Order: sequence, then C-alpha cells, then structure tokens
Amino acid sequence: EKYVAGLDKSSASFSSKINALAARYREINDEYFDELENILIMSDVGVNMVMKIVDEIKKEVRLENIKDPHAINDIIVDKMFVIYANDSYMTTKINYAENDLTVILMVGVNGAGKTTTIAKLANKIMHEEGKKVMVAAGDTFRAGAIEQLAEWANRLNIPCVKGKEGGDPSSVIFDALEQAKAGGYDVLICDTAGRLQNKVNLMKELEKMNRIIKRVVPEGPQETLLVVDATTGQNGISQAVEFSKITDITGIVLTKMDGTAKGGIILSIKDMLNIPVKFIGLGEKIDDLQEFDLEQYIYGLCN
Ligand code: GDP
Repeated sequence: EKYVAGLDKSSASFSSKINALAARYREINDEYFDELENILIMSDVGVNMVMKIVDEIKKEVRLENIKDPHAINDIIVDKMFVIYANDSYMTTKINYAENDLTVILMVGVNGAGKTTTIAKLANKIMHEEGKKVMVAAGDTFRAGAIEQLAEWANRLNIPCVKGKEGGDPSSVIFDALEQAKAGGYDVLICDTAGRLQNKVNLMKELEKMNRIIKRVVPEGPQETLLVVDATTGQNGISQAVEFSKITDITGIVLTKMDGTAKGGIILSIKDMLNIPVKFIGLGEKIDDLQEFDLEQYIYGLCN
C-alpha cells in the first residue's frame, strides 16, 4: 500500500537499526539500552520521549524477566503506542461544522509545504467527502504565493478568492467568507503568511483573521492546521512550539515524510505539544496526502 511505501524510508531505517541491534546482543544489558536510546534519539523521537519509552521498556524487561533482545521489538511498539495513544482526543478527523461553513486556517513557515498541502487537502475533501470547497489566498506576503494557490485551484476546478500581493490578508478572508456563504460552500480553506520571524505581526494578523471569521461563522475556524516540514526534525518541533504560543493549533500536517529517515518526529510532537498529527504529506503530487494512522505508523517503525 502507498501509505506504507511512503513511510518506508523512516520505518525501514528505524526497524533495520533495532533489528541489527538485537542481532548483536545475546542478552539484554545496559549497553544494549544505551544503544537503543541512541537509535531513538537519532530518529528524532525527542529526548524526553526516549527516556519515557526506555524506562517503560526496562520495567517490562525486569518484570517479565526477558533476556532475548529480539523479544523487545514488540514491547517497543507497545510502549510507544500506549504513551502516544492514551489520549482519546488525539483524533485525525477534521472537525466539520454541522450546519455552517467549515473554515480551515492553514499556518506554517514558508517552504513547509503549506500551499501544496492546501491543494491536496481541498482535493481530498472534495473527492472523499463530497464537499464543495473554496480556497482563499490569505498569504499576501510571500511573493508568488497567491498565483501558486490560484493555479492549484484552477487545476482542481475550484474558486480561489484573492487580493493583491502585499494587501490586507483579513480583507481577502472576509471576501472569501462572504462568497463561500453566498455560494453554499461547505468548506473554506485559508492560506496565511508564515512570518514566524515577526511574531508580533503574525499574532496580530491571526487574531484579526479569527475575529473576522467568527463574525461570519461563530464556531469558526473549526480547524487551524500547522504545516511542518518533517525533514527539519527538531527545528520543526521548535517552530511548532512557537506557533502554538501564537495561536490555537488544532492539528498538524507533517509534510515531506517521503524524504526523511526521522519519522520519530511524530512522537516528539506528541510529547512536546500534545497536538494530534492529522495528515502526513508523502510527495509533491495532489494525492500525496494521507490521514495519519498511528497504529500503522508505530507498527511500521518496529517491524
Ligand atoms: P509553502 O511555502 O509552505 O507554501 O510551501 P510549498 O507548498 O510551496 O512547498 C514547498 C516545496 O515543498 C514545493 O516544492 C513542494 O512541492 C514541496 N512539498 C510539499 N509537500 C511535500 C511532500 O509531502 N513531499 C515532498 N517530497 N515535497 C513536498
């Protein structure tokens, strides 16, 4: 299946490392655990999470008197799963409005894959949910962002509301909200500027957008999705932490998972932010976006 194939790089590198580790040790000992810790850290699982997982594994090994390193892979999967999945709210589903327009704000730094992800998401929502989708070119700051989104929209045959480059993003969003309401659209996906280097402005801009959205759609925005480039590893995590201080993030889209051996970033995000990863990007094409499946992901890491 495509999902598994796309994650091959991160899964294969992790699982081949822990299997090679198991093959080198006849018995589990302290050095074995040191090496296991290193492998987890190299996969960008995040130091806190690594400590938690390894502690849990050590407990289990002692309790069950396990000697064979090969027997440990299942325990790793199990512990990762328990630590990650014990929150029932960690859902990957989009929170659609029942009787109103659903507004989805997309945030993230330039280059993370925001514009591409908007197109992929619009395509997915249209074709898999059968909903009527409109997009708004709210990133009036990055040169070319408006045209890039408009071009995707054109290819998808959906409307893209846009203003002038350098113009007020909130007025673009306002126009889009009016048009989406008037046209009976189900979902409006809004691009925003990713100026993390100017946090005060970014915060003000997002606050204004949120105010304007609430005036038209009281429950909105139903989602604020943060787009993070998985290949940036721990930097991506720091960005996510910064964004979560600026605005309420309801979910994360991890892009470029096809190009990284550091799939552990997902566990790190959970540990640092407790925000669900809702989608993962697995390429540059329109259908290279998948709903994140935790079970499959963790199982894939260790098998
Ligand atoms: P933005 O500045 O955040 O809007 O980023 P773009 O959407 O323009 O994407 C930046 C680059 O990353 C483009 O070349 C995209 O094709 C590429 N890209 C986006 N998502 C993915 C992904 O999941 N996998 C890969 N390999 N490339 C991606």
